[in-house]
Amino acid sequence: MTGLPPTKRRALRGVAVALVRWVDTHAGVDTEPPAEKRIDWLRVLPFAFLHAACFAVLIVGWSPVAVGVAVALYVVRMFAITGIYHRYFSHRAFRLTRRWQFAFAVLGATAVQRGPLWWAAHHRHHHRVSDQPDDVHSPVQHGFWWSHMGWLMSPHGFRTRIHEVQDLYRFPELVFLDRFDTLVPALFAAALLGLGALLDAVAPGLGTSAGQMLVWGFFVSTVFLFHGTCTINSLAHVIGRRRYATGDDSRNSALLAVITLGEGWHNNHHHYPGAARQGFRWWEYDVTYYVLRALACVGVVHDLRGVPAHVLESDLLDAQAPHVG
Ligand SMILES: [Zn+2]
Ligand SMILES: [Zn+2]
Repeated sequence: MTGLPPTKRRALRGVAVALVRWVDTHAGVDTEPPAEKRIDWLRVLPFAFLHAACFAVLIVGWSPVAVGVAVALYVVRMFAITGIYHRYFSHRAFRLTRRWQFAFAVLGATAVQRGPLWWAAHHRHHHRVSDQPDDVHSPVQHGFWWSHMGWLMSPHGFRTRIHEVQDLYRFPELVFLDRFDTLVPALFAAALLGLGALLDAVAPGLGTSAGQMLVWGFFVSTVFLFHGTCTINSLAHVIGRRRYATGDDSRNSALLAVITLGEGWHNNHHHYPGAARQGFRWWEYDVTYYVLRALACVGVVHDLRGVPAHVLESDLLDAQAPHVG
């Protein structure tokens, strides 16, 4: 490569780094990419494949058990994102032992939303600069598609903002999951393939197969999970009601709370991000919080942080706050 002109050398290095990053996200992190709206198509090819593979339902067909597994894995992994990646790793809204922290981090990694450090670091940054020009997934600043998925396909959005997660970076097991963030999803997909093959062999009456379990349980479920999660970035600052003057455009949406197991109460959350709950009123259903309460009852999670009474009543907007859907 030494005989090549510098421009060609740089281009070749770019291709090599993009490919290595399919498995090792630490590759090339020494360079700080500019905050430009450019999609790294080579690096996100596996992400595009994830979507395209959903069309394989036309080949493998469907069965009640395969669709049921897809729905169940959506719900369980949505909890892993909202309860663990978001409320635990990003906001430290409760405590876990180190073993449970790792076990839940692995569960979160099955959601295929990269590693816990990358996720938490970007999210903490979002709270610091919410809806300001530096907020990479603000729909107010950057529009729907960029805030929904464009930002995480760009070289700028790729890197883990390590300075945001120094408290998590001291756990080598979390750094490992973050660095090799396709390992857990690959094992998870293989396990589903194995489950389908097993069911096909021992319970043929179910009408499922290895291919069905892979396509429905992994690809379809993961794509719905991805877009469901991303509505909090692209829509929760646009649709719904504002209860609190938060200095950004965050809103409370009952619809988004259904899709995301309670994260739709996003204006509440921006008002007091450190709480384990996001539904502040009794009728604001927050399934993630109910699960966390149940896990606290059996001693798995500790010290769930609540919302102080004075916070509930502070910075309230008047009853005529804008309502957009
Ligand atoms: Zn937000
Ligand atoms: Zn948050």
